[in-house]
Amino acid sequence: MISSKYTIREQNEAKILNVIITKNEVSRAELSTITGLNKASVSAITKKLIDEDFIQETRIGDASNVGGRKPIMLTFNRRSAVVIAFDLGYNYIEAMLAYIDGTIIDSIRKNRVAVTAKNVVSQMQEIIDHFLAHQPETPHGIIGLTAAIHGQVYKNIIHFTPYYDLDKRPLWEELQALYDFPIYLENEANLAALGEYTFSSHYRNLVSISIHSGIGAGIVENGHLQVGHRGRAGEIGHSILYPHGRDCPCGNSGCLEQYASNKATYQEYANEEGLDYVNSDVLLEAFRENNSHALALLEKNAELLSIGINNIIMMYDPEMVVINSSLYRKIPEMIDFIHAQIKNRFSKDVLVRNTYLEKSATLYGAFAISAQNFLNIKKLKLMKYGIKELEEIK
Ligand SMILES: [Zn+2]
Repeated sequence: MISSKYTIREQNEAKILNVIITKNEVSRAELSTITGLNKASVSAITKKLIDEDFIQETRIGDASNVGGRKPIMLTFNRRSAVVIAFDLGYNYIEAMLAYIDGTIIDSIRKNRVAVTAKNVVSQMQEIIDHFLAHQPETPHGIIGLTAAIHGQVYKNIIHFTPYYDLDKRPLWEELQALYDFPIYLENEANLAALGEYTFSSHYRNLVSISIHSGIGAGIVENGHLQVGHRGRAGEIGHSILYPHGRDCPCGNSGCLEQYASNKATYQEYANEEGLDYVNSDVLLEAFRENNSHALALLEKNAELLSIGINNIIMMYDPEMVVINSSLYRKIPEMIDFIHAQIKNRFSKDVLVRNTYLEKSATLYGAFAISAQNFLNIKKLKLMKYGIKELEEIK
């Protein structure tokens, strides 16, 4: 059961709070001008937000005119609450505890664990209990837990998970019965896109492409995550690259991810070089040593992926495409290979870049879902990397 303290914030309250978060520091007079609410309303709402520890009076600002009264500046209390994020891979679990602004407090990663319908709840419980015991004292405590699922999820219901059997268990119902803070489940690539939107860019329209065993895209349009009719939007890994090509578990053949996923590229390099195991580190080393096979393969990967990126740019007209892939993070030159391919009249002005959130875009997106819902701010921006973004040169 969700406790009543998580009920939705009143609209004007959320509006004021959003301006304070966005502007970082603002006076009551500025709040009134920006929101169009009269001074008495602003005064009442800010008093309530101060009483609830959401905002703080930080310092005396400069007077706007000579002889005028100096205003008291208000800022968001970035430590007013904490959030929990999970990334449930088929062979790993990663979890983080953070303040509501995304500042990380604690993280746990378990590698080489087979995540199954049978063990998922107990695995998560163990980590949640650890976080509950070690969370810092904050006015509101834990205000949400969001878990990333590698598969199709719609409104917290897991519909299809090709790499594990989490679709066999009512995970959301079971977790919600155990804890009184709200639980959210969302697709991994969608969360990565929301993480990029909330924490790493000024843009309102972007696509994030997550590349692991498969390829998925998350789409943010005007600040809203676009998930489609059943949560299937952005499955670009299953757009067809070659008619009658390699078979894909989805039932089609010639899907993009059978050629351009990291897994496909590692497999191809292993076959060419007679190696048992290839990962991004193996390819990075070969690339640095100017291995011609590796270079040709990486250029081919970027060329094929560019076809998928081109198609998605044609459909969604984003301002930016962010790549979330260990291969592209380790070999950033591959982004240049993509730039060389994305050059038509419609796509050449679109920024294509690596993530700034390292391996954690998905977890940041999970923080964003909990924070958005708790604060009732749907297009929340909690920039951490804004300065870097301004310096960006394509
Ligand atoms: Zn497919």
